[in-house]
Amino acid sequence: MHETDEQIYAIDHENYVPVFARYDIVLDHGDGVYVYDTHGKKYIDFLGGIAVNVVGHNHKPLVDAVAEQAKKMIHCSNLYYTEVQADAAKKLATLSGLDDAKVFFGNSGAEANEGAIKLARKYATSKDKDKIQIIVANMSFHGRTMATLAATGQAHYHEGFGPLPAGFDYVDFGDIDALAKMMSGKTCAVMLETIQGEGGVHVPPDDYLKKVRTLCDKYDAVLILDEIQCGMGRTGTFFAYEQYGIKPDITTLAKGLAGGVPIGAFVAKGAVAAAFHAGDHGSTFGGNPLACAAANVVLDAVPQKSFLDNVKTVGAYMKEKLEALKEKYPALIKDVRGKGLILGVELTKPGRGIVDACLSEGAIINCTAGNVLRFIPPLIVTKENVDELMNVMENVLPKFA
Ligand SMILES: *Cc1c(COP(=O)(O)O)cnc(C)c1O
Repeated sequence: MHETDEQIYAIDHENYVPVFARYDIVLDHGDGVYVYDTHGKKYIDFLGGIAVNVVGHNHKPLVDAVAEQAKKMIHCSNLYYTEVQADAAKKLATLSGLDDAKVFFGNSGAEANEGAIKLARKYATSKDKDKIQIIVANMSFHGRTMATLAATGQAHYHEGFGPLPAGFDYVDFGDIDALAKMMSGKTCAVMLETIQGEGGVHVPPDDYLKKVRTLCDKYDAVLILDEIQCGMGRTGTFFAYEQYGIKPDITTLAKGLAGGVPIGAFVAKGAVAAAFHAGDHGSTFGGNPLACAAANVVLDAVPQKSFLDNVKTVGAYMKEKLEALKEKYPALIKDVRGKGLILGVELTKPGRGIVDACLSEGAIINCTAGNVLRFIPPLIVTKENVDELMNVMENVLPKFA
């Protein structure tokens, strides 16, 4: 190490845009569900790079695939074909279950959603030029670009950035009557997270998405399900929508898709994707060989039954443990929510202090929406790892109860 932690903080503060409320820790490397700081202190990682490190840190097949691909070719233009991109697209199209599915790769979640929004607009306005309304949910999160900010139903993220792209209307997540009232023949798309992540881990009522699907069919509106956080096996099925017995017209992925190498994707059913012609959309880096080589490893590992079974088993175990904490600390914990390994604990007060305290005790967790502890660990965590985290929480929570 050339610099001390304090020097690194100072360099960052002098040179980096201060948009992240960073924690005072410099991470150095990771292994499985653990990360290590510059002093060799070990942390159990229940954030997983924000739902990114799905196969864990330093996963050998992933590291090897990236290293091998880097030696062959890191990047080539999308003006040419590559085998790794074709393979990744085929795997994702097949997994989606969408009719005649077509895939497009970008570099991030926001880009995946931008592509989905553009495609929905092109598809709908080719039928009726006024069919532009995109209905999104309050407390949603779809990204930080201008259109995905407009799609994000949290006013505080919009402040200071107007004017945002027009045509977005907001409705409460889970309220089917409100959605039905808002929709008409002019509705271009309904865009939802299958399970809301950043907004505080909100799971929809059981029959909600089926009814949304029916409304979209009735008005010929495109159903876009953003699975950037809740997809990639996180709920125990590859896509979360599989558990609700429906299929979207477009779905988006990013975060875990290449296990940490930047990538994003939208998958659209063929009839919708056909609205895009050569030149309508594109990307310089999107789906480049390095990212696709990584994605191929993840797309082979995650759909395996044993992998998904682990998510279900460990997720259910962890939810039980969190519910036991709620029983024990009723004044502190208001609600426990989630499915598989996207779990949220709503507190009666802000959660940052608890996150800080866990960090000093060697556990990385996260707080979102101010007062919701969010657990989105690598999907390879075990019950023993959960016990280890629970020991930390048992030490920390009494100080906040
Ligand atoms: C993280 C996230 C995004 C944005 O992804 P970026 O890669 O940060 O652009 C969009 N939608 C959801 C549901 C997310 O969790």
